[in-house]
Amino acid sequence: MTLRFSVLASGSTGNAVYVETEEQRLLIDAGLSGKKMDELFQKINRDPKDLNGILVSHEHSDHIKGVGIFARKHKLPIYANEKTWKAMEGQLGTIATDQKFTFATGEVKAFGNIDVESFGVSHDAAEPMFFTFQHEGRKLVLATDMGYVSDRIKGTIDKADIFIFESNHDMNMLRMGRYPWSVKRRILSDVGHVSNEDAALALSDVIGDNTSRIYLAHLSLDNNMKDLARLSVEQVLKEQGMAIGEQFELYDTDPQNPTALAVV
Ligand SMILES: [Zn+2]
Ligand SMILES: [Zn+2]
Repeated sequence: MTLRFSVLASGSTGNAVYVETEEQRLLIDAGLSGKKMDELFQKINRDPKDLNGILVSHEHSDHIKGVGIFARKHKLPIYANEKTWKAMEGQLGTIATDQKFTFATGEVKAFGNIDVESFGVSHDAAEPMFFTFQHEGRKLVLATDMGYVSDRIKGTIDKADIFIFESNHDMNMLRMGRYPWSVKRRILSDVGHVSNEDAALALSDVIGDNTSRIYLAHLSLDNNMKDLARLSVEQVLKEQGMAIGEQFELYDTDPQNPTALAVV
């Protein structure tokens, strides 16, 4: 049995991640329109009707835009913590009671043969949380939309095989860029987003001997570039004595196109 995943789309225009084993298929967030979500599934050759559920990280529209329509269309159960349910319910449209489930922050829940652990993050939403996925000793981490990476989070995500990790902005591009100061301050705050450099510093604390791939995720369209994110992260990790290409590889994610289905 193998754990596989694809980052279907990533960035402030919409986020969605797909995780599967032979017997279990999960979607984490559906931040694009129902139509775009269907297209993303076509691109990875999977049928959304086969999903066992949608896990929701938090109620920001780049994570829930397609949740309601997708759940209705494909008859999927939705899992979120109580505060997120309250905050997002009005935006999802009508969801049947038998499609609503609670997944508390800090809970470990078995979805078939995938053990999912949720962990809270510091971000300006009602009760944002992200996830680790474990199957037969393998561990996949999804962690974006964080103001900073706390020691508690590092403890939870430590030594994963694969990290899908926020690398939101380049500090200088954000500082020099056209965003109003209030928005800049929000992004830079403890409840905003993680910069390239902070992502790399956090990663250097949690990368383990088994870590094989790191996917840089939730890149800002205005305040980052794929090459810049990769270079910045690479440089910091190098300074920490970690060699990309030998120990592990860095991968991009894209706002429009899924990453190739990969084995954890
Ligand atoms: Zn987001
Ligand atoms: Zn968010």
